[in-house]
Amino acid sequence: MTYLIFRCKNCGRHLYALENVKRRKCVCGFSNDLKKVKVLAKAVDERAASEIVRKLQGSGTLFRSLDG
Ligand SMILES: [Zn+2]
Repeated sequence: MTYLIFRCKNCGRHLYALENVKRRKCVCGFSNDLKKVKVLAKAVDERAASEIVRKLQGSGTLFRSLDG
């Protein structure tokens, strides 16, 4: 299975979703159309995908974290 890593078009948060999924809802409430997002990276499994997202997330805080 392939996971796509991308940024939410609304808030810029990094997200991941399975390649064959049509939409991925972000924590901000925006539903991203996977056909329209810019794919930043791909991962072979969910663990790798979350790892990449964590690294991307940690590298820049251009947006506020909703988790506090
Ligand atoms: Zn968002």
